[in-house]
Amino acid sequence: MLHGIAVSEGVGLGRVMLLEEPCLPYHSEEVRRTTEAPAEQERFRQAVETFRRNTAEQVELLRLSAGYDESLVLDSHIDMVRDPVLLEEIENLILQGYSAEAALQETCDSYIEAFSSSTDELTRLRAEDIRDVYRALLCVLLGVKEKSLSHAPKGTVLVGRELSPSIMSGIDKENIVGIITETGGFVSHSSILARALGIPTVCGVTGATRSLSPDSFVIVDGMKGEVLSDPKEAEISTYWQRREDFLNQRRQMEIFRDRKTLSADGVEYKLYCNISMPAGAPRAIESGGEGIGLFRTEYLFMNSPHVPTEEDQVLAYSQVLQAAAGRPVVIRTLDIGGDKEVPCLNLPQEENPFLGLRGIRWCLKNPEVFLVQLRALLRAGMEGDLRILLPMVSTIEELRAGKALLATAEAQLTARGIPHAETLPVGVMIETPAAALLAGILATEADFFNIGTNDLTGYIMACDRGNSHVADLYSILQPAVLRALRHVIRCGRERGIPVCICGEAASDPRIIPLLMSFGITGFSVSAASLLSVRHAISHWTKAQGDRLAEAVLAMKSEEEAGDYLAAAARNEAIDGVSPTIKSPYIS
Ligand code: PEP
Ligand code: MG
Repeated sequence: MLHGIAVSEGVGLGRVMLLEEPCLPYHSEEVRRTTEAPAEQERFRQAVETFRRNTAEQVELLRLSAGYDESLVLDSHIDMVRDPVLLEEIENLILQGYSAEAALQETCDSYIEAFSSSTDELTRLRAEDIRDVYRALLCVLLGVKEKSLSHAPKGTVLVGRELSPSIMSGIDKENIVGIITETGGFVSHSSILARALGIPTVCGVTGATRSLSPDSFVIVDGMKGEVLSDPKEAEISTYWQRREDFLNQRRQMEIFRDRKTLSADGVEYKLYCNISMPAGAPRAIESGGEGIGLFRTEYLFMNSPHVPTEEDQVLAYSQVLQAAAGRPVVIRTLDIGGDKEVPCLNLPQEENPFLGLRGIRWCLKNPEVFLVQLRALLRAGMEGDLRILLPMVSTIEELRAGKALLATAEAQLTARGIPHAETLPVGVMIETPAAALLAGILATEADFFNIGTNDLTGYIMACDRGNSHVADLYSILQPAVLRALRHVIRCGRERGIPVCICGEAASDPRIIPLLMSFGITGFSVSAASLLSVRHAISHWTKAQGDRLAEAVLAMKSEEEAGDYLAAAARNEAIDGVSPTIKSPYIS
């Protein structure tokens, strides 16, 4: 049995197709030339154009198969080859006598080396992206066609060193039943796409391409991160059964699609969806979202070569409101800084960006940009139930200043005679320890809270989740984080304002009964997680959540809490507390 990282759930049984790296007949020394620089420059520019066209087609395919938000993973490759610094570096080398291939390799290698040695996981992912772009551009320059997967036969298990998003775009999810790679991890782009496509996947399987021979029969266990090669009859029937059980469970989830989100004792919760671009809104609603709980507007800015105008933004926000058709839509104002780069805003480098000018801090220092967004929100606000969310708040003054600028934007629109909503609810993103500690005070002036557990966990534990040396500290079940959650939700409840959770932890089944006990009113999760969260909520009563919460908050370590809650989520009775199997939907 081979072991790796479980990155996409399910069980796949099928025959191995080895993904060979394309043979690129290129060696830097051989092709290096000293003449014909202008013609070489032109050849490179043509290759860039072809690359952009090919990639745009692949993005389109991914949009259809994996979804809009997920296709952004590949869309970002088109932006990379628009980067003037990268292009200039390559062209300068060509002018010095390098061939296009050699110049491309020299430049990309230096970026890959710098990014891959970073301790920050997101930066390491950039290296993965540059490697993909390099390989695809080199194929174009050399006229080599990458092998297409569209004709892979039914029951294929793909095995490769790595799987780039461009290769993933050619996958037919009906035929590919499993994926095994030697590199990558849970947050790699190929893993994100595998989850969106629903293909059982195990990453980080050392030596997989050597030890698994083409056409041999394998089993991929995407829950445990295991790969069985040439399994025995008995193993095959056990895993077929596991596959059936998994698929049955998935089918059972379908009954939750057009339902309200109710606990086992009939308490109703709001279940919203997170999106990054307007085109993600229709899928969010079709997948069962009761509205949009978080629209991360910085992506509009990150994906645009110029700063989006007021008209651009009115259009984008209106599209989301129209897709939501009267359901609530929470639009978060620009949350830039930290790990989010926005080329069109030309942000200065900061020594310690996560503790620098992020979110509302940047907006308040750049009111000319912020006012454009606020005016666009007020204008779009006539289209439906729009609520404004301010990110990275850490003082009451920031909330007040945000509201004051909203009033200014409103006065400007009135003076210009432009129709708009007179006012909109303003909520606070609770994602700094300061905001969590101050929740009682913020609740007196905020219309709602959204808890951003991705940042809140990192800031409370003072650890970067991408840094493997401290990754074990980054957990929603750390006693300090659980206490913060309980405090924030309690403060919101005491003031009678809605409190929604919108970080990744919102779909962690271990924590759902605790949040119910604390008094959460809503959850906002990715489209792919909506049904499983509705399902998990339906299994608990408030009284059971209270008993679990009391037990967990008496525990002193994350490990203790983790073991206890994992057993509860697996439906095991612990200390006499077990989930109600009889949910209101299952007779
Ligand atoms: C969060 O911090 O939990 C959150 C939802 O915001 P983002 O992940 O965009 O920082
Ligand atoms: Mg955040």
